This record gives sequence, structure tokens and C-alpha cells, in this order.
Amino acid sequence: MDAIGAFGITEPAHGSDLNSIETVAVRDGDFYILNGTKKWVGNASVADLSIIFAKDEQTGQIAGFVVEKGTPGYDARPISKKIAVRSSIQADIRLTDVRVPVENRLTEGSSFREVGEVLKGVRPMVAWQALGIATGAYEAALDYTLERSQFGRPVAAFQLVQEKLADMAGAVSSMRLMTLRASRLLDDGRLTHGGASLVKRDCARLARRVCRDARDLLGGNGILLDHDVARHFADVEALYTYEGTDHVQSLLVAREITGLSALK
Ligand SMILES: Cc1cc2nc3c(=O)[nH]c(=O)nc-3n(C[C@H](O)[C@H](O)[C@H](O)COP(=O)(O)OP(=O)(O)OC[C@H]3O[C@@H](n4cnc5c(N)ncnc54)[C@H](O)[C@@H]3O)c2cc1C
Repeated sequence: MDAIGAFGITEPAHGSDLNSIETVAVRDGDFYILNGTKKWVGNASVADLSIIFAKDEQTGQIAGFVVEKGTPGYDARPISKKIAVRSSIQADIRLTDVRVPVENRLTEGSSFREVGEVLKGVRPMVAWQALGIATGAYEAALDYTLERSQFGRPVAAFQLVQEKLADMAGAVSSMRLMTLRASRLLDDGRLTHGGASLVKRDCARLARRVCRDARDLLGGNGILLDHDVARHFADVEALYTYEGTDHVQSLLVAREITGLSALK
């Protein structure tokens, strides 16, 4: 790996409502000076390059600014005490008079249109993550229920358990088809914003259901960290929220279907 990157949009007070971000960029000769705070930014405390989104004070336009590692005034602290995605780093960032050269400004765009293009590519990847989590949870539950005996039989032999296993297998298959289709459309340049939101939303929902059922099928062991299912159960909650919450994805899908936006 040549360099680690970070992509910072979210702020403590602005998550779904990204157009309201308060981080500000003020032009000062050949530099912009950034001030503000960011939250939840992946790899921000170890990144070689962080793209920080800020409002240009002069124009009110939102743009990305590349902040290089070691730039004075950039202070990123890893977020601790998480119940999910504990192996990855997210950080809070404080930007205090961070000077970046004007050539580090990424875009002249006046909105999050460019960010939307990035998210359109990333959301199908999140759907693949959901598929990975669901597959892991399903396979662990299948192994466990075949191994675990109650009433003198493997619990996988009971009809109610079999219905759950069949539901899980069906969900995983549906997710596989959806992710494959979305990625092919993306490769062909035919995936719409609504389509990207739909695959993220529905795969996150299905993965959440699979993890919940897997947790149940492990009985009490389903809440122990010794088994991967508890980890999947927690991780899917983060996935349900990042790259846009379930609600926001629904609104983006419906905006495309109806031509009416429920968002500002
Ligand atoms: C593990 C993880 C990694 C992340 N990585 C990054 C990253 O690398 N870079 C980055 O910039 N951000 C990152 N984020 C932030 C993530 O994108 C936000 O958490 C997400 O967009 C939601 O914002 P929020 O947490 O402020 O929730 P809020 O926006 O405050 O939402 C709270 C609740 O209100 C609902 N809500 C809000 N507005 C509406 C509405 N109009 N209609 C209906 N319901 C609504 C939401 O759906 C949700 O249920 C990450 C988050 C997590 C958890």
C-alpha cells in the first residue's frame, strides 16, 4: 500500500444533513485556512492524506481539501468504546487554523454532487460487506445447529430451526444476486444513485435479519464474544448506519422513483 487515505464529511452536529456542515475554509493568499470539527472519519488518525470537506467562506460552496499528514492544527483522535467494527479506526478530528495550499482544493462544485458520485461507487461495496457479514453469520449458525443437540437431536433437525436456516439461506442468496447486479451496472456506468442506495439499504436490512436469527440459533452462546456471530451482530449495526442511514437510503430511492425529494 502506497498511502492511507481518509474521507471526512461527517461532523458532530451534521451526519445525514451534510449540506449544513460548519467546517469552514477561508482563502488566505495561496492557502486555505480550515477550522472546524469532524466525526467518525475512517483512518483519520493514521492517514497520509485526509480529504476534508468544508464550506468556502467566500462563496458558501462545499469543497474537498487534501490535508497532508503532519500539517499543523490537524488533530485526529481515535474513537474508543465502540461495540462494532472494533478492528477498524474511526476518529474525531479537530481542525485549528490548518493551512492547505490552494492546489489541494479538490473541487469547485457548489454542492455534494461530486461526493454523491463517490457514494454511488461505495454503496454497492457496503452491500458486499453486508453479504460477507451475513454469510459468516449464516455459516456459523448452520455449523452450530448441526453440532448442538437438545432433546436428543441436533437442533438443526427441528422444523422451526430449519425455517430460520432456510430464511437465512434465502436472504444470503438474494443479497448475492443484488450485489452482483449492482456491481455489473456500476461497471457498465448504468447504476443510478437510487440503485446504489437500494442495494445498500436492502442488503443491510437482510444482513441485520440474518445476524439476528444467527444470534438466536446459538442460544446463550450467541452473546459471547468467543463466537463470531456476536461480532457480526454488532458490526452489522454500524454498517446499517455508515455511508448513509437506512432512512436516508429510502429517501434517496424514493426521490428517484417519484421525482420528489423529502430532503432539503
Ligand atoms: C463505523 C462508521 C464509520 C464511518 N466512517 C465515516 C467516514 O469515513 N467519513 C465520514 O465522513 N463519516 C463516516 N461515518 C459517519 C456516517 O456516515 C454517519 O454516522 C451517518 O451518515 C449518519 O449520521 P449521524 O450518525 O450523525 O446520524 P444522524 O444523521 O443524526 O441520524 C440519526 C437518526 O435520524 C435519522 N434521520 C436523520 N435525518 C432524517 C430524515 N431527513 N428523515 C428520516 N430520518 C432521518 C437517521 O436515519 C437516524 O436514524 C461513519 C460512521 C460509522 C458508524
